[in-house]
Amino acid sequence: MINLSLKSLNQGLVKKKFSSLELTQFFLNRVEKHNSDINAFISIDAEKSLTQAKHADALIQSGQNSLLTGIPVAQKDIFCSAGWRTTCGSLMLDNFISPYDATVIQKFNEVGAVNLGKTNMDEFAMGSSNETSYYGSVKNPWDLSLVPGGSSGGSAAAIAARLAPAATGTDTGGSIRQPASLCGFTGLKPTYGLVSRFGMIAFASSLDQAGPMAPSAEDCAALLNVMAGYDEKDSTSINHEKEDYLANLDEPIKGLRIGVPKEFFEKGLDGSVQKVIEAALMSYKKMGAELVDISLPNTHLAIPVYYVIAPAEASSNLSRYDGVRYGYRAKEYDDLMEMYFKTRQEGFGEEVKRRILIGTYVLSAGYYDAYYLKAQKIRKLISDDFKKAFEKCDVIMGPSAPSVAFKANEKKSDPLAMYLQDIYTISTNLAGLPGMSIPAGMIENLPVGLQLIGNYFKESQMLNIAHAFQKETDWHTRMPDGVS
Ligand code: GLN
Repeated sequence: MINLSLKSLNQGLVKKKFSSLELTQFFLNRVEKHNSDINAFISIDAEKSLTQAKHADALIQSGQNSLLTGIPVAQKDIFCSAGWRTTCGSLMLDNFISPYDATVIQKFNEVGAVNLGKTNMDEFAMGSSNETSYYGSVKNPWDLSLVPGGSSGGSAAAIAARLAPAATGTDTGGSIRQPASLCGFTGLKPTYGLVSRFGMIAFASSLDQAGPMAPSAEDCAALLNVMAGYDEKDSTSINHEKEDYLANLDEPIKGLRIGVPKEFFEKGLDGSVQKVIEAALMSYKKMGAELVDISLPNTHLAIPVYYVIAPAEASSNLSRYDGVRYGYRAKEYDDLMEMYFKTRQEGFGEEVKRRILIGTYVLSAGYYDAYYLKAQKIRKLISDDFKKAFEKCDVIMGPSAPSVAFKANEKKSDPLAMYLQDIYTISTNLAGLPGMSIPAGMIENLPVGLQLIGNYFKESQMLNIAHAFQKETDWHTRMPDGVS
């Protein structure tokens, strides 16, 4: 069961080899067995999941099924899900039971997919190692002493350990692609605006984007088919024509021009990771693609720009957690002001407070021009770099992360070292472009991800390019020792 693609699981359900109830119970059993080691899930509600599974079985029985009907999907705990506790990895929302569904959740419900549970994540999606969660750190199934990456680390670990056949994540600066790289599966951050942000708890609204996480590109295409689509409830949702992301997976890739940015291979990149990426590029060349040297000259500014813009937006978004509307409220206080202070002091973790402080600072009257406005100008330059690059190539490739998974606690007390994890992913969020990570090799039994960056709305082409690689290689089917 754990080796089956979403398409095969769908076939199994349709041909009555197993029911959704059995499939869901199978994965719930796996979660129950392994979650104490991995800590991938914050909330599990077997009764709710099994009720959905029964409903899915009825849909299949009546012939109203689609590819995801009856398939259990692990949902990052950033998506509001009606009746489910939705914590965003924070004490601030520890007691929050969502009264409504995020559009992403609603779309999965509409096709009869099963919510398998809510996955662990860095607090408010701020982090690259899943060590900032109020619910404890997540372990990397490839080696439990290592981090799974973040912030979608719970979803990532769930896929790697095959606790779920598919999952969702969100990516503000790399949180789908970096954990996909560190845990050895496929993850896609779509073009900004392709997937609705309605009901997805906001971190940095101009950067946040939800996307699929699953072993293969084909699985991700099936998930994106459900997730993508215009939503009038999200003012930044884009009315892009509906596509079938499974339709072009087998197109030939001969003649494809792959841009290789020299800035992605400079100091900071681990030498063994570089070798894996170069070997993957050579495989593409063998398949008939052409490698083109390109330059993204402002790459080195992506992290500083992000760490002005993202905290600025976060400081505004997180102002709603004041102990009044919902969520945590301090127990003891003398007056309203003290209630606000204590609630935010106690309810937020260290990294979140750091971001709120930075954000408030860069937006303050005296510093707005010097930091925030300047960052916005450089953001435009970064977008322009991509625009120029795409005149010479169809897709850009490079590493997803500078290293393989690192030790727990290694970078926890050094925020700047942690921030560097996203050096290759952040610029695509700043430009709003789609990015993807696919398993491309191993170093000492740890996975390495190859990053694909496409032009706006080129998800279909990127999935095709990724699928071509996955037909030639088996990296995406590898599982950690002991997972069976
Ligand atoms: N690691 C980055 C951060 O901490 C990105 C997180 C994300 O993409 N949600 O902000």
